[in-house]
Amino acid sequence: MRIHCKTLLRGTQWRHDMVLHLDSGGLITAIQAGTERDATASLRGVVVPGMPNVHSHAFQRAIAGRTGPGGTERDSFWSWREAMYRCANQVSPQQLGAIAAGVYVEMLKAGYTSCAEFHYIHHQAGGAAYMNLAEMSERIINAASDSCIALTLLPVLYCAAGFGETGVSDQQRRFVNPADQYLRLLEACYRLVSGNPQLALGVAPHSLRAVPGSTLQEVLQAWPHKHCPVHIHIAEQPAEIASSLDFLGARPVEWLLEHFPVDGHWCLIHATHMSDAEAERAAASEAAAGLCPTTEADLGDGVFRTDSWLATGGHIAIGSDSNIRISVAGELRVLEYNERLASGKRNVLAEPAMPCGQFLYHRAAKGGGVAIGQPVGQLEVGFRADLLELDDGHDLLAGLPPAAQMDSWVFAGDSSMIKSVWVAGRCVVRQGIHCREGLVGPGYARALSELRSL
Ligand SMILES: [Zn+2]
Repeated sequence: MRIHCKTLLRGTQWRHDMVLHLDSGGLITAIQAGTERDATASLRGVVVPGMPNVHSHAFQRAIAGRTGPGGTERDSFWSWREAMYRCANQVSPQQLGAIAAGVYVEMLKAGYTSCAEFHYIHHQAGGAAYMNLAEMSERIINAASDSCIALTLLPVLYCAAGFGETGVSDQQRRFVNPADQYLRLLEACYRLVSGNPQLALGVAPHSLRAVPGSTLQEVLQAWPHKHCPVHIHIAEQPAEIASSLDFLGARPVEWLLEHFPVDGHWCLIHATHMSDAEAERAAASEAAAGLCPTTEADLGDGVFRTDSWLATGGHIAIGSDSNIRISVAGELRVLEYNERLASGKRNVLAEPAMPCGQFLYHRAAKGGGVAIGQPVGQLEVGFRADLLELDDGHDLLAGLPPAAQMDSWVFAGDSSMIKSVWVAGRCVVRQGIHCREGLVGPGYARALSELRSL
């Protein structure tokens, strides 16, 4: 397969009339100058690498926008969590699979071509394991296949209700696995993803509050695949920082860096409340900050200071997290707007030769690919042809140079500006229509409606 791109973002540079040569698995084997006559497909709009989504809880789409009663003074992340737990305790395996497939279709239409699913509903309501320990994980994997998105499955390790606690609340029983059972779950998932290059597996301690350090140590030592992604929620809420200081005698990121060999395989999800010293050390570790600015804004988490993080050499990646809104452009826009609101300046997350839209997209795609452990996020030889093509005929894009099109998409547009989306060299979204929409859509709508009526 050969795909001709009239305008292509390679690294930080725009290239014109390039042909991507692909092998049968959709990996790029060569990038050469050429025209549409040299290719089996031709893309006339601006082409950029598909965006990896480093953090999703697909089922939470079922409560998107249902943020609780207005005007309640005590409404917060923690009260939202109660609503989320009610949903998590109702969702059946069939509903989980149907919602995940529908959410992944929405992601592809928004430009996410791969997704790291931070998956923590493992058991039946009440906590008894399904006959198949990996029942729910299998539903997620099937949903990814049904929707044609690449998946890094992150089965979540969850042990305790809080720092220093040994048990969980009734609402958390579906999430819990002791270390030995968690390792069995990982092994089962490993067998499920093996042999499919669009599937990968990582380890996901939920948070330091839900996983004692000794348990995390035990799991990481026992798991033989040492270079797999490791994702953890960290420093999301001020209350978590206070508990960490009380119980561990250190801030969470500080403690993690002190006790674990954090490196480029790690993704620190949120990491909102870091001190300058923590941020400096975390950036030096090469771990990515997994930023989910739309969800973080919705939950009132606080503002991650992307500008200073990038200035210390930190890597960034983006995630749709609670999936309250599924929009690549929207996530990048909020990152920049956070900086503008805090600094009173404009075009903060940019470089002289790279305006905001292109700069943020490039950094998040590259960092995201590393964070999910798949060869994506860059259009280079050895990487997968996961692509997104902007709509050159859109009123707001027509006639603009490519970098300006990226800015218009990020700040003035949305998914309607995307003309086509490709995974492993296969077109899965064309003119806003996903190739499996008709198959996935009805089950998605039904599952959402069933959970809404509970
Ligand atoms: Zn999360």
